[in-house]
Amino acid sequence: AVEVRDVHKWYGAHRVLDGVDLTVRAGEVTVVIGPSGSGKSTLLRVINHLEQPQLGHVSLDGELVGVRWQRGRLRELSEHQILAQRRRIGFVFQDFNLFPHLTVLDNVAAAPVATGLLRKPEAQRLAHTLLGRVGLGEKADAYPRQLSGGQQQRVAIARALALRPGVILFDEPTSALDPELVGEVLAVIKDLAAEGTTLIVVTHEIAFAREVADRVVFMDGGRILEHGTPGEVLDHPQHPRTRAFLSRVL
Ligand code: ATP
Ligand code: MG
Repeated sequence: AVEVRDVHKWYGAHRVLDGVDLTVRAGEVTVVIGPSGSGKSTLLRVINHLEQPQLGHVSLDGELVGVRWQRGRLRELSEHQILAQRRRIGFVFQDFNLFPHLTVLDNVAAAPVATGLLRKPEAQRLAHTLLGRVGLGEKADAYPRQLSGGQQQRVAIARALALRPGVILFDEPTSALDPELVGEVLAVIKDLAAEGTTLIVVTHEIAFAREVADRVVFMDGGRILEHGTPGEVLDHPQHPRTRAFLSRVL
C-alpha cells in the first residue's frame, strides 16, 4: 500500500500541494485527474521522493519513503538508501525517457543488472519475457528511434516492470502520443491492472479511468477535492469544480 499523509509542498509563496492524504491499497488502481497545475505530477514526484515535501510524509508498505524518524524529527535517508527504495516504485513518464544508444532489450535489462538484482543473462531472459508481455517480442534488437511512440512507451512500461516494483506511477503516459497509438498503451496498463499490479495513473483519459480505476481522485489547487469510485466521481461529481473540469474534458 502507498500512504500519503498530510503532504504539503510549496515553492516560495506558491502552495503546490496543500495537505494531500491518499491511500492506495495493494492491487488497486487509482486514477488522478485534475486541471493543469493542480499538483498531479508533483504528487507523483513526492511519492517517489524526487521531491521532498515540507510537511507530511509518504510510506510504501508501511515504510517511510526517503526519510526516517530520528530523535522526533524526520531526517532524509542516504542517497544509497533512497535509490534502493526508489527501485520499488516504478515510474513511467509522458515522454518515455528510453536510453537512445541501447537496444530495446538492453533498455529493459539494464536496471536489474546495474542494481545487482540479476546477472546479465537472467536480466535478458526477463527482458524478453516482459517485452512479450507488452507485445514487443519482435522488437528486442531495435533501437528506440526505430519504434513508434506507442511502442516506445510500452518498452518504458516493460523497463519499469523489470525491477518488480511494488507500485507503478504513470504521469500522463499517453499524452505525448498520436491519438491512434493511445489505445495500445492503455491496453498494456489495463493488463497490469487486471494482474493486480498496484498503479497510480495521472491521465486525462476519462473513459480509461471509468473502465480500469478502483478509485478516482480529483485534484485542484494542490488539494484532493473529491475521491471515490469512478461511478461516484465521474458520473455523480459532488464538487462544482469536479463538474466544471469534467464538462471540459468529456
Ligand atoms: P499538468 O496537468 O500541466 O501536468 P500538474 O497537475 O501535473 O499539471 P504540477 O506539475 O504538479 O501540476 O505543478 C503544480 C504547480 O507547481 C504548477 O503551478 C507549477 O508551475 C508549480 N511547480 C512545479 N514544479 C515547480 C518547481 N520546481 N518550482 C516552482 N514551481 C513549480
Ligand atoms: Mg503534470
